[in-house]
Amino acid sequence: MASTIDITSYKGNIINGQFVTTPATRHSIDPATAEPLYEVPVAGREDLDSAVQHARNAFKSWSKTSFTERAKLMLQYADAIEANRDEIEKLLTQEQGKPLGLSNAEVGMALQWLRTFATMEVKDEVLEDTEERTIYSTFPPIGVCAAIVPWNWPILLGLGKVGPALMTGNVMIMKPSPYTPYCDLKLGELAMSIFPPGVFQVLSGDDSLGPWITAHPGVDMVSFTGSIATGKRVAESCAKTLKRYVLELGGNDAAIVCDDVVLDKCIPKIAMLSFLNSGQICMLCKRIYVHENIYDRFRDAFVEFTKNNIKTGGGFEEGVTVGPVQNKMQFDIVKDMYDEIQKQGWKTALDGKVRSDSKGYFVEPAVIDNPPDESRIVVEEPFGPIVPLLKWSSEQEVIDRANSLETGLGTSVWSKDLGRAERMARQISAGSVWVNSHFDVAPNVPFGGHKESGIGMEWGIEGFKHYTNSRSLWVWKNIFE
Ligand code: NAD
Repeated sequence: MASTIDITSYKGNIINGQFVTTPATRHSIDPATAEPLYEVPVAGREDLDSAVQHARNAFKSWSKTSFTERAKLMLQYADAIEANRDEIEKLLTQEQGKPLGLSNAEVGMALQWLRTFATMEVKDEVLEDTEERTIYSTFPPIGVCAAIVPWNWPILLGLGKVGPALMTGNVMIMKPSPYTPYCDLKLGELAMSIFPPGVFQVLSGDDSLGPWITAHPGVDMVSFTGSIATGKRVAESCAKTLKRYVLELGGNDAAIVCDDVVLDKCIPKIAMLSFLNSGQICMLCKRIYVHENIYDRFRDAFVEFTKNNIKTGGGFEEGVTVGPVQNKMQFDIVKDMYDEIQKQGWKTALDGKVRSDSKGYFVEPAVIDNPPDESRIVVEEPFGPIVPLLKWSSEQEVIDRANSLETGLGTSVWSKDLGRAERMARQISAGSVWVNSHFDVAPNVPFGGHKESGIGMEWGIEGFKHYTNSRSLWVWKNIFE
């Protein structure tokens, strides 16, 4: 019988299969109302030490469990989440701000991811097999892993680390963002009755906790998703103990629209993939390059579609695409970008608006009309519902412009001519490139960034291997004959 959760009550961090309270508590807020949400623990150093100690003990037996046993528990865990999904989705909208339909999609993806992870085994590879010897590549788990999770997709990005770590025989300590601790704590609570103690623990804390984790000598590997600036700090800290790490960092994706597209078919997709989650997704259309032959028609239809179909409002309201920006820090960054419109004299195709009539962090979509390439709205990741349209004329020129930044997370090319689109796609430096789509992800497909967008990949067997060491095993067969 799956356990049920009470989303209004947080009994402590999840350490060794128990709730552990902390002397101090804190809360985050509902970004739609700026009202405080529930009290959660603030992990101290002693909590981290304790979790690491229990994780190290748990690793001894968990690393020896069979793939079948791990898969069985992973599927049970997915079922337990599914049994509580209505409450979890409500909580996600409360704490993150995203519309309820998107919370539903995030939980649905997380379930699909866990169930697919349960089928993905990293198998030994035979490199040579002769009469004399067999040489294998084998992939033992690393040990105690830590998941450091951002606030934009706390469920999918959290479980997207937990699943592969556990399936490859590691144990995991997950640290949610202080802005969105609630769903991740509940995911830990649901795991308590399924995985052995110490295998999957959750520590919620304040801003000190992340740096303590990356510096801790008992943590062997860190899987981090967040901003580029923090990613560099994580890498620097991990270097001191030579921890393994995977970094999934910021992006500033280009969408390249060729002049043979059918506008009605691609504009709804490109507009949705610009403003989804209020622009707070690492891989969204953040610079839209439109061929000069269709630029004016594209711009006008894009604005028309956005005005008529992309509604801003609270996540529990019907038909909303753009919920509140998640937190005050991000709201200030987005407001600053909207202030630049006036200051820099950028032409707008859609003015957008920062709402001042609400305590929540609401911003309406803005579309900037062909600003200079070096303007902040083109070179920075705004992480808000504001996007520039840019004009291009030659294939090589637009590829160079798409590749010109230090980020390289995703890029899309939109064209009826698949040969041309694929030729262009193959010249892009980014971890994911799509033809006639954007932001496709799947549990069996590796995902990550080039250049400053990250190091290493998540998901897919390639992502699983980042939770393993590579061990070459040489077996000589005949020396005693
Ligand atoms: P952030 O870097 O501020 O925080 C991410 C996490 O790191 C949080 O849990 C935070 O508490 C923790 N943290 C902060 N300082 C730390 C430190 N010194 N050491 C260790 N941990 C620390 O990022 P954010 O604002 O939560 O997320 C938004 C950013 O994440 C955007 O830039 C976005 O593009 C990026 N992102 C990337 C991906 C990807 O997969 N590539 C996915 C989602 C978001």
